[in-house]
Amino acid sequence: MRFLLSLDEGTTSARAALYNEQGRRIATESAPLVCAHPNPGWVEQDAQAIWTTQLDAARRVLASKNIRPGEVAAIGITNQRETTIVWDASTGEPIAPAIVWQCRRTAEACALLAASPAADAVTRKTGLVIDAYFSASKIRWILDHVPDAQARARDGALRFGTVDTWLLWNLTNGAVHATDVSNASRTMLMNLESGDWDPELLSLFDIPRAMLPRIIPSSYTAGVADASHLGFEVPICGIAGDQQSALFGQACLRPGLSKNTYGTGCFALMHTGSHQPVSRHKLLATRAASLDASPQFAIEGSIFTAGAAIQWLRDKLILIPSAAATEAIAESASGTDGVYFVPAFVGLGAPYWDPNARATLTGVTLATEAKHVVRATLEGIAYQVRELVEAMEADSGEPLRELRVDGGAAANNFLMQFQADILGKPIVRPADAETTALGAAYLAGLACGYFPSVEAVEANWSADRTFEPRMPTSQREDLYAGWKHAVAQCRAK
Ligand code: ADP
Repeated sequence: MRFLLSLDEGTTSARAALYNEQGRRIATESAPLVCAHPNPGWVEQDAQAIWTTQLDAARRVLASKNIRPGEVAAIGITNQRETTIVWDASTGEPIAPAIVWQCRRTAEACALLAASPAADAVTRKTGLVIDAYFSASKIRWILDHVPDAQARARDGALRFGTVDTWLLWNLTNGAVHATDVSNASRTMLMNLESGDWDPELLSLFDIPRAMLPRIIPSSYTAGVADASHLGFEVPICGIAGDQQSALFGQACLRPGLSKNTYGTGCFALMHTGSHQPVSRHKLLATRAASLDASPQFAIEGSIFTAGAAIQWLRDKLILIPSAAATEAIAESASGTDGVYFVPAFVGLGAPYWDPNARATLTGVTLATEAKHVVRATLEGIAYQVRELVEAMEADSGEPLRELRVDGGAAANNFLMQFQADILGKPIVRPADAETTALGAAYLAGLACGYFPSVEAVEANWSADRTFEPRMPTSQREDLYAGWKHAVAQCRAK
């Protein structure tokens, strides 16, 4: 019996999972990871802790099943995207804390760039909206603030990596400096069309080519983990950014197939095949995980606040005992009684990109009860997802047939039914909701021959439950019009 080991390095935890030949997860271990906030809006992590926490989870999952040498066919890596690490090429020591994707320290620099004549070319070449979210401005910050860093980078003494690259470097004891194309597409330095570092972008951000990793396909033998880490050598055969990995894990491998992850925020991705999308509706064009050198694309929309609004009801308003309790509370109300909740706690993401919007509760009367607010919070997540889906359909010209879902809040049956109703499309929840880790396992398994073909991956995917739309069209559109009105109010602030 041989297994695949998936390393899923997220923002709040590092997870490791073992899969068998049927693509079934047989064991999972995780370890928490902390973020530091040394200044308002700053988010950092200890890069060494990212590596040691991930290694610890991997060792524990192997121990939990008493896995022996030769029983792991390959490793797949999936990771929090955009997070930026710079280290010394000879010692492997990070020269600064990892700057996490959420960190806003470069917001001002990005606003200046967005207002400059170079902005159009950046967006055209990368498919990205200019924002502090992506890696380029974070690398620039490190090179500007660590003494001698720019000169050392130019001399080839420093290495840059997103978290996949950092884990790969450490697993191979510094033998391999590479990243997969899906992670590279989030740096704002890769030309989306060519799949290579773009000389004009490198010069715009003044980032030396010498510090950048080699870009490889997502399903590809990148190197071999040294025996000192897991007790035996294992080839590393798959890498993808978390959202692209989830798209793969959901078997969304053909144009039009889409998934939405309901976590802290929401990330919706639609596969567009070999067709490079251009968003006219403020979504991002990105690389999907690739099996070989031929490019695969996706269109992506992100919502900053989804499940986090449920946490706010629980921890700040003390309105609910647990996130899971919202399902029964929402179902105990026949509607929201005209209440809408736009959870713009940190502004609005796609398709608005409005950092100044703030969370707004509208339509409240003396008859409003806690259950209406709870229901309006869940509905607010679903309305935001409809906005993303409409923008994706308009950009791709592909109508969405169904939406595959995952993430913590996808467990909420009320939310899923309301999502189907407000979209007017089926919502399909897969049997294994850990689609991020599964995607990396698939990518590794395909490269090492553990899985014979993409068709086998598609055949492995199975639904737990499908939520069919039941709401009459007139009611759906009336409710949605009310939502649009509430969004306008939240943006008027
Ligand atoms: P992340 O990966 O972003 O940390 P998860 O996918 O683990 O997020 O999902 C956790 C989020 O989902 C939390 O914000 C939590 O409030 C929300 N959540 C979890 N279970 C439920 C539920 N049954 N109903 C609604 N929201 C839920």
